[in-house]
Amino acid sequence: MSISVLYGRDISRDFTAEFNFATRRIGRPGTAWDGNFNLPSDYVPKDSGQIPENVVAATGISTSLEDRVIHSMGKSSPEILAAKHGVMGQIVGGVLYPDAGSLESSVRMLLEKGLKVIPYGGGSSVNGSLMPEAGHETVSIDMKNFSSISIGKNFVRAGAGVTGSDLEAALWKAGYTCGNFPESFRYSTVGGWVATGAVGQESNQYGGIREIALSISLLTSSGRIEDINVPSQSAGTTALDISLGSAGSTGIITDVTLKTFRIPRRRYYHSYFFRSFEDGLRALQESEKLPTVARLSDETETEFAIRSNSADTVQKLFRGYLDIRGVGSGAILIVVNNEEPWKMGMSGAVYAGGIPAKMWERDRYLRPGLANLLWKAGYIPDTLETAANWENLPALYRDVKESFDETKKQYGFNGVIMAHISHLYRSGACIYFTFVLSTEFKREMETLEAARDGIIKAFLRNHGAITHHHGMGALFRPYLDSQHLDLMNRIRDPMYGGV
Ligand SMILES: Cc1cc2nc3c(=O)[nH]c(=O)nc-3n(C[C@H](O)[C@H](O)[C@H](O)COP(=O)(O)OP(=O)(O)OC[C@H]3O[C@@H](n4cnc5c(N)ncnc54)[C@H](O)[C@@H]3O)c2cc1C
Repeated sequence: MSISVLYGRDISRDFTAEFNFATRRIGRPGTAWDGNFNLPSDYVPKDSGQIPENVVAATGISTSLEDRVIHSMGKSSPEILAAKHGVMGQIVGGVLYPDAGSLESSVRMLLEKGLKVIPYGGGSSVNGSLMPEAGHETVSIDMKNFSSISIGKNFVRAGAGVTGSDLEAALWKAGYTCGNFPESFRYSTVGGWVATGAVGQESNQYGGIREIALSISLLTSSGRIEDINVPSQSAGTTALDISLGSAGSTGIITDVTLKTFRIPRRRYYHSYFFRSFEDGLRALQESEKLPTVARLSDETETEFAIRSNSADTVQKLFRGYLDIRGVGSGAILIVVNNEEPWKMGMSGAVYAGGIPAKMWERDRYLRPGLANLLWKAGYIPDTLETAANWENLPALYRDVKESFDETKKQYGFNGVIMAHISHLYRSGACIYFTFVLSTEFKREMETLEAARDGIIKAFLRNHGAITHHHGMGALFRPYLDSQHLDLMNRIRDPMYGGV
């Protein structure tokens, strides 16, 4: 059986030019791959028991192997690489597709039989939070039938399984947006956003899901908790409070109420070149007013962004324009701002027009298409991100790069690492690292693990978060300090079957 495991089935943009540019920089590929989890015909899944026949019959649980495998993994690189190597840990025993009428009775029946559950949204998470824990049988609860959307005055109530693109399509027709645009927007769901603490690309203006979500309805093993729908309250801890970033461990989110905003009448696009990434960091730190989107790329990512797509006419013209202005290397900052041009003095910057920001917007959900090409050619692309205060960011950035180079020396792989600032706050920012490596097949898993471990430890050494928006899961839990681990365990619902 062959199961496609790469992210983004419908990415239509051709990334060949970028692919060629990247691979020249990285070096030789490892072993090519078709992007499928190829399971041998005699594959025996690792799980600890069986879902009783009468429960399967009464609830309509799917026990197909393909369903079970897909629902036990997200889109992180360690999970995809494990599939390339034909390795799968524990998988769920079955998948339930409930609707609002059947969820509570089905879950009750599962719990009576001693089964555990893991909620499932769009399966786009990159933290290992869909892996079931060994030692008991677990059922994945796929929320796709929770698809209602009800638009109110400056808020929307959406079923947990509504994807970002379906939500925005409905809101845009009514003249609204909820302002959460993660790159995974076409696949990820509003329930998944809450459970991972997602942050969209326009968070400087709208905030992340922590700021946008107003209330939820949560099904726990001891009943339903319905948050009141009010603009704000101080009446103690809410279901939303305990579910933000919970990875589904506090219960099943069935509905989410989100703020809505009038869609912007106009967007303005700008770009600036700084002599160095650190010059750009200083300028952003001094900026009083935050634009809707601001992405400052380091020198490697800048070169990649403006030199790689040789086939694109607009980009060719832009490069000609940069040559005339005597810039084209350094660190690029692209800015998109709603309603009015962004007029901040960027000390030490050269203004470079709107084209790069427009090109970013054109491809804002398509870039994983490049990752797919790299995977298939035998490379391992990956991303890790963190947030830190302004004063810690320069040292953190340097330490991550040094740590990557150190691991590279130690493990002898080919690879490149680059970064950009993706989300701004008054006190600091989120810095997002992209790295690609290649090595011999049998060393791929240990090499990726070592590169990731070195990077996350550099985050922590420099007072960064384990993750800014990718959420908690098996891949990050080992880095959580004991106090916060204890706190998460205290609010964990006994029905939760995740790691
Ligand atoms: C290419 C790519 C780009 C990405 N870009 C971004 C980005 O820009 N910003 C960002 O924040 N993240 C990003 N992500 C990560 C991911 O898309 C987010 O974490 C997203 O919020 C996951 O939503 P999902 O619906 O796919 O959740 P899933 O992957 O299905 O689940 C994630 C976790 O949430 C839990 N969960 C899901 N639904 C529910 C529910 N109804 N009730 C309780 N728990 C639930 C699951 O049990 C699991 O622990 C990206 C991922 C990829 C692959």
